[in-house]
Amino acid sequence: METEPGELPKTMAAWVIREERQGEPRDAFQVEEIEVPEPGAFEVIVRVMAAGVNYNNVWAALGEPIGVWRYGDHPEFGHHIGGSDASGVVWKVGPGVTRWKVGDEVVIHCNQTSYEDPEVHGLDPMAAPSQRIWGYETTWGSFAQFTKVQAQQLLPKPKALTWEEAASYGLVYFTAYRMLMTRCNLQAGQRVLVWGGAGGLGVFGIQLCKAAGAECVGVVSSEEKGELVKQLGAVDYINRDEFKGMMRRGGESADEEKERFKVMRAFDKRVKELLGDKPDIVFEHVGAATFPTSVFTVKPFGKVVICAGTTGYTLDFDVRYLWMKQKEIIGSHFANAYECTKANELIESNVIRPVLWRTLGFDGVGEAHQLMRDNQHLGKISILVGAEETGQGKTAEGPGAIYAEVGA
Ligand code: NAP
Repeated sequence: METEPGELPKTMAAWVIREERQGEPRDAFQVEEIEVPEPGAFEVIVRVMAAGVNYNNVWAALGEPIGVWRYGDHPEFGHHIGGSDASGVVWKVGPGVTRWKVGDEVVIHCNQTSYEDPEVHGLDPMAAPSQRIWGYETTWGSFAQFTKVQAQQLLPKPKALTWEEAASYGLVYFTAYRMLMTRCNLQAGQRVLVWGGAGGLGVFGIQLCKAAGAECVGVVSSEEKGELVKQLGAVDYINRDEFKGMMRRGGESADEEKERFKVMRAFDKRVKELLGDKPDIVFEHVGAATFPTSVFTVKPFGKVVICAGTTGYTLDFDVRYLWMKQKEIIGSHFANAYECTKANELIESNVIRPVLWRTLGFDGVGEAHQLMRDNQHLGKISILVGAEETGQGKTAEGPGAIYAEVGA
């Protein structure tokens, strides 16, 4: 790319989803030449060096359960450039930006809100009516040579990380941080059950428990994933294949339901054996299949904190276990800029480390999302955009990412 910092080329290469080709990620994403946007007030154009892959753009590709087209700036531009994580270089700043200058090396958090919403200035940006996830509910995401973001989304790039490592962690890590630290007030000595312990959210849920002095068990679907979970600091793992019968499928007969409860009780017993007691917190995102087990397994007065429903949004469970034992269900969604800043400091000081499974070239965007859709991955996948090869961008010594080496 020939352009100098401070100048923008007319067009750029971008991976684009369009409404008429929604479907499996490998086909829905296609490279197009798109006009480079100019930064508006308090906005910044970042040259993307690497981009991180998240489940949200699997949903965007599928167009299910809802398409992205009605949200954010999609009606204005009619295309979706996905990507809610990036590392890169500030290339051009819009009017009003004072904290950042051309040439700064940054990572980007994905929460956008209007500066004019009062919630932003006193309650929590996550409560603002204008709140959107950049690169999912908006276009101009990170799977392109340039991305347009609000200046408040920028965070300093941790110096000891390569471009691909720095691009990998933001969305899932900051989400896990809010779920555990803010919404559940995680304390030393507490016990936590983490679903999908080797997945994007889970690898950070486990590291946060360890850093806080809490004990956790991760649920996974293979022994290799279990070893990763232990390496990250979990006291142990449970292979969910041993407890297939506890998953809620819906439309069960009374006998089938009885059978499911039997397996669920056996799972609950295993959790107690491994943790020494029932968990104070269950870290949920799987949804319909696991939610009845989460409510049943969490301790009396305990908290089930949930940020997604990958296996289904309509949850049903026996509410007696909730009210009789005075348990809480807590919704959580991404994180505000302050939480992202505090969480990023833990990466800068190597207390929390990115967990990278694969780095693919710019041509790998569709494939990466397909691997995620098919649950073939561990931890995170990054895409090289401006970076020519892996290993670039590190400007200080440090341990860098943990590399998860097993899997597909
Ligand atoms: P991920 O990397 O695919 O990890 C999810 C893990 O869930 C997988 O590793 C898998 O682990 C486990 N899983 C999948 N199907 C399961 C099932 N039927 N039963 C039990 N476990 C199952 O995805 P992620 O990045 O962690 O994201 C997970 C979900 O959270 C997605 O729906 C995503 O869109 C959402 N999310 C929401 C927010 C938010 O702010 N609201 C933020 C981040 C992510 P095993 O196969 O090893 O069990």
